[in-house]
Amino acid sequence: MMCLTSAAELSQKIKAWKMDGQTISFVPTMGNLHRGHLSLVEKAKTLADKVVVSIYVNPMQFGIGEDLESYPRTLAEDQKALNDQSVDLLFLPNNTVMYSSDMENDTRVILPELSQILCGEVRSSHFAGVTTVVNKLLNIVQPDIAVFGEKDYQQVFLIKKMVADLFIPVNVFSAPTVREASGLAMSSRNQYLTSDQHLQAALIYQALCDLKEAVSARHDFRQLESQCAGKLTKDGFRVDYVSFRSTVTLQLAEARDEGVVLLIAAWLGKTRLIDNLVIY
Ligand code: AMP
Repeated sequence: MMCLTSAAELSQKIKAWKMDGQTISFVPTMGNLHRGHLSLVEKAKTLADKVVVSIYVNPMQFGIGEDLESYPRTLAEDQKALNDQSVDLLFLPNNTVMYSSDMENDTRVILPELSQILCGEVRSSHFAGVTTVVNKLLNIVQPDIAVFGEKDYQQVFLIKKMVADLFIPVNVFSAPTVREASGLAMSSRNQYLTSDQHLQAALIYQALCDLKEAVSARHDFRQLESQCAGKLTKDGFRVDYVSFRSTVTLQLAEARDEGVVLLIAAWLGKTRLIDNLVIY
C-alpha cells in the first residue's frame, strides 16, 4: 500500500490510474480504524478498481472544548489493517496541506439549515467543518465513488446534498452501521467509555429497536420521542435528542412521510453517542 502525504503527489498517482482506465473509490476517515471503517473499505473495493483511504483528524469539525487533542490516533495499527485489506493508497495529509495558517478565514462549505439541526444544535460549527473537509478531499482525490457510513446519518445526508448542490462529479454510496454483539454502534469514541458504561451504551440501540416496534398505524411520533428520552434519562443518559425525521428532508417526521428514520444522540458521562435506525 502506497502512503502519500502530499496532495500533488496523490493527484499525479490518481491521474496515472485514470489514464490507465482505472476507476477510483474513496473512503475518508479520521483513523483509529475499527470494523465499521473496514466495512466501508470492503464496499469501496466492490465499486471501483482502486481504493484510496484518507486518515485526517480535521480540526475544523471539532468545537472548542471537544476532543481534538485526545482523539485516538493509532496510525501504525491503521496502516496494517488497510494494508491487510489490500487498499491501494493511503492519503495522510497534515493541517498545512489541508488549510492555510489562518484556518478560521479559509473558504468553507456550509449547509445553512441542515447543519444547525440535530447534532448541529449542540455542535454548531461541526458540519461546516465536515462538509468543508470532505469537499477538499474530494477535490484532491477526484474519485468516481466515495463511501460513507450510515452510522453518521446526518453527515452522509449533508454530504449527498452538498455533492448535488455543487455538482461535484462523484457518486456517493453509504454502508450500513457495523455493531458490536450488544448492538452498540462501533465508534472510535467508544473507548472513552468505562466497562460499565460500555454495557449501558447498548441501551441506545435497544431504544431504537423498541421504538421501531412501537411505531404502528396509530402512533404519535412526538409522544414516542419524549417517552424514549425520558427512559434514557432514567437509565443514566443525558439526552441531546430523540427524533423521528423524514428520510427525504431530515425535517421532523409526520405520519404521512414515506420514509422515516429515528435518530438518537445522548451522553454517557463524558462520551457523546449517536445512532439511528430507519423505521420504514
Ligand atoms: P470517522 O473516522 O469517525 O470520521 O468515520 C469515517 C467513516 O466511517 C464515516 O463515513 C463514518 O460514518 C464511518 N463509520 C464510523 N463508524 C461506523 C460504523 N460503526 N459502521 C459503519 N460505518 C462507520
